[in-house]
This record gives sequence, C-alpha cells and structure tokens, in this order.
Amino acid sequence: MNVKVQNFSKRYGNFLAVDNISFEARHGEILGFLGPNGAGKTTTMKAITTYIAPSDGKIFIGDIDVEQAPEEARRHIGYLPENNPLYYDMFITDFLEYMAKLSDVPRDKINQRIEQMIDVCGLGPERYKRIGELSKGYQQRVGLAQALIHDPEILILDEPTTGLDPNQIIEIRQLIKQIGKEKTVILSSHILAEVEATCDRVVIINHGKIVADGTATDLRTLLTEGEVYRIRIANRTYEEVKDLLPNIPELLDFEVIDSSKNIIRVKGTKNSNFGEKLFKFAVENNLILTEMSPVEAKLEDIFRQLTNN
Ligand code: ATP
Repeated sequence: MNVKVQNFSKRYGNFLAVDNISFEARHGEILGFLGPNGAGKTTTMKAITTYIAPSDGKIFIGDIDVEQAPEEARRHIGYLPENNPLYYDMFITDFLEYMAKLSDVPRDKINQRIEQMIDVCGLGPERYKRIGELSKGYQQRVGLAQALIHDPEILILDEPTTGLDPNQIIEIRQLIKQIGKEKTVILSSHILAEVEATCDRVVIINHGKIVADGTATDLRTLLTEGEVYRIRIANRTYEEVKDLLPNIPELLDFEVIDSSKNIIRVKGTKNSNFGEKLFKFAVENNLILTEMSPVEAKLEDIFRQLTNN
C-alpha cells in the first residue's frame, strides 16, 4: 500500500507550517523524511495519520482519502509519535493487549499478536516488566510493538531513535530495516546519518517546502558540481606536474592536498567520463598513479547547502 501526499499545506492561524508539498512512499520502501527542527515533519506525519486535517491538498493511503475516511485509513497505519507516549505503570503485555483492543484486533487473535510482537521487537527478555522499568531502547521497542500490533501495511515513525544510546540506535535501526521489507515506512529525522543508514529514499523538507527527493546517491549526483578524484603521482613532484595538469581534458580545477606525498585533488566536468580521461592522460604523460579514488560529496554538506538559510 502506498502513501500519497498531494499538494499538502498546513496553516496554524496565519503561520504556514507546510507549504504545498507532494511526495509518495511505496510498498517495501523506507522513506526518510529529513529536515531541521521546525521544518514541518511532525505536522505532515500528523496529517498522514489523520490526527490533524490538511488546510489544503489531499493525502491518500492506498486509494483511501484520509479526510473522507479517517477511521478506514487508520486501520492501515501504525504510528509511533514523537516522544513515544506510553503508560509507564502498565506491564508490557497488558499495554499491548489494550492497544490491540483499541485497534480492533479480533479477540481470538490478540494473544497470538502479542506473542508475535514480543518476538519481532525483541521484547522477550523484558516481557514481565512494567514499561516504566524498561530502558529507553526497550521502551522504544514497545512503541514499535504497539504501532505494529494490528499488522498495518504502513508504518509512520516520528524520530524513532531520539534519546537512545548508540547501541540502542543501531538495534532499533536494524529492527526498522527488517520490518520495512514488508511494509511502507516513513521515518522522520533531523539526523542525516540516521536516514542514510536506514532509508531507501530521502525527502528533505525545509521551512515547510520540499527541497530534495531521491536516493542518497541521486542527491549526491544531482547536487555535486563535478566529478572529483584524489590522485597520487609516484614518479614526479607536484612542482613538476603543476603546469601539465591544466591540459587534462574536461578539467575544472585542481589543488594539492599533500605536496610531500604528491597527493592532488582534481575536479572535472560532471557526466563527462572524467575518470577515464584522467587515467588516459596520466598514461600518455607517463605519470605513475599509485592512487586514484573518486571523492564523493558528503551528504552532510548537501543537507547543509539545502537547509541553510
Ligand atoms: P522537530 O524536528 O523540531 O520536531 P518538525 O519538522 O517536526 O520539527 P513541526 O513540529 O511540524 O516541525 O513544526 C513545524 C512548524 O509549525 C514549527 O514552526 C512549529 O512551531 C509550528 N507548529 C507546530 N504545531 C503547531 C501548533 N499546534 N500551533 C502553532 N504552530 C505549530
């Protein structure tokens, strides 16, 4: 089941929090919804999950218009809201049973679903504890278990790893990746590494507008100015080659990184097979390359470029 957001806008009074955004998340895909604080991520997720109504635009869960049929839409959605609201005095299994009843899981299936969720979310070792007695990482697992209890096709996770320690973050990411193989997952984050590690595709939102949509590789290619290589020349010094390098076909610019080791960074025109040209140029000019590696733009830089005011 796909999630389709079409020209969605949300106003709070006179303030336009989300401004005419459109994107689609597909079955079997983990979509990262990335943006700085206040970009409009939670607002969009609340609209997808029917907790707030759009000011403009439409949101579809499969063919269901969420405004026309919110209850029907909710049956297909599991939602882990920001800050993971839980009942701390309840035992895990009691809480999951309560959530299962609220989600209309048939009575005779509830125990089976609870056991499945305990298994899928790795809650076994802690299953007899109250939620308040669990570590943050296990509380987050309970949050995921409640979101999945009615076996929804769509999972909406609002900043699911906030407040976890590095080990817990890795565990929760693995769990989400596992679950994401069979569902449509939208995961929000303001942490780029999170989205890169977990998601198949990234939508970047800033000040309520989408500023990029694609895979991490797409975004790098799209927003990088040229093809960059780091080369090391074994048989000549930088001083000896610096007047020769401007003759490399498609060269845009170059700079020395470490003159004592003859390590140079060269940049050529994008989509021009620059690497091949650079290699041939080295051969023709008898330059022995002991290193030639592509330098990828850091997604971090691209994110900052897109979201810096
Ligand atoms: P964060 O990463 O900090 O959670 P976010 O991208 O999820 O941010 P939202 O919570 O969607 O951002 O907020 C978008 C903008 O809308 C912010 O400027 C916020 O202050 C504003 N906003 C959100 N909810 C309301 C509300 N109920 N009333 C008024 N303004 C709101």
